[in-house]
Amino acid sequence: MTDSDISFESGSLWPAIVNRTRRSLDIGALRPIETEQETIVDGGISFDVRVISSLARKAHEANPGVRPPDFNPFLPYEEDLFVANISESHVGILNKFPVADNHLLIVTRAFEEQTFLLTEQDFQAMCACMREFDGLAFYNSGEIAGASQRHKHIQIVPLPLTSDGQATPVEGAIAAADLSSGVGQCPTLPFANAIVRLDDLDALPVTNAASALQDHYHSMLRSMSLMDEPDNTKNYNLLATRSWMMLVPRSREHFEGISINALGFAGELLVMDRNQLSTLRERGPMAALRAVGVLRHPYLSLTT
Ligand code: AMP
Repeated sequence: MTDSDISFESGSLWPAIVNRTRRSLDIGALRPIETEQETIVDGGISFDVRVISSLARKAHEANPGVRPPDFNPFLPYEEDLFVANISESHVGILNKFPVADNHLLIVTRAFEEQTFLLTEQDFQAMCACMREFDGLAFYNSGEIAGASQRHKHIQIVPLPLTSDGQATPVEGAIAAADLSSGVGQCPTLPFANAIVRLDDLDALPVTNAASALQDHYHSMLRSMSLMDEPDNTKNYNLLATRSWMMLVPRSREHFEGISINALGFAGELLVMDRNQLSTLRERGPMAALRAVGVLRHPYLSLTT
């Protein structure tokens, strides 16, 4: 693959996302989840917590949209949500139930399990999109990591996530990580994590940038002893901005009934109601993340 194998024209992806969002809202194909925004400060991080509004919950309860258990929303995907052909192997569509606007899903054209390792083609599609707009790309590997769909999908939400202009609430914690030897970890985060700094990837052709990301990804999986696990037990979240990439191994999906996915580790949490918000306030988001992550273990080997 070369940059000329990217299926969309350079500069066209962001306008396509914005236009498709507007049109699919107009025709009712997009069903945004209405939330109220709260902040909980814990461990020096201002967590952004979205509480699903009672009206949105009632609407869903009235019309839960029951589907057969093997229903695949990405094969075929809804044409009304189509954004762009990304490459021969991937297509870009809108998240039908977004919490924030312009939430892109990069899905494989052919079925692949969400728990399979990310491939070179996956990273190429992700890099091609990430150079088009400033976003947080993330991957929930399996149900325990918060994935609700089995069909492989990487996601990108636009940055900044915070209203104070920081790209994500965890920027300060990431900056404190010791990354002098390549893959490092953030000492202030109370769960196992592997982090790499990403510099100048934009200057590289997509293929080279993707292969650099894939190498880092393998190093991070190895450092968390996940590389040799069978695919269906490789439970982790992967998060990447243009500046850093982080991998977090997972032990479970829920904390006190609150489902946590990759966005939680970027400092963005979603709760179903005010009861869950109270629980999160009392126990603290850091305790929640520690509970669904994996304890840092002394034999953690960090190598590039
Ligand atoms: P995850 O829950 O992390 O596996 O991400 C899957 C995303 O797919 C969720 O955020 C859903 O909102 C979204 N989704 C569910 N059904 C559809 C659909 N028919 N078309 C597009 N996105 C969907």
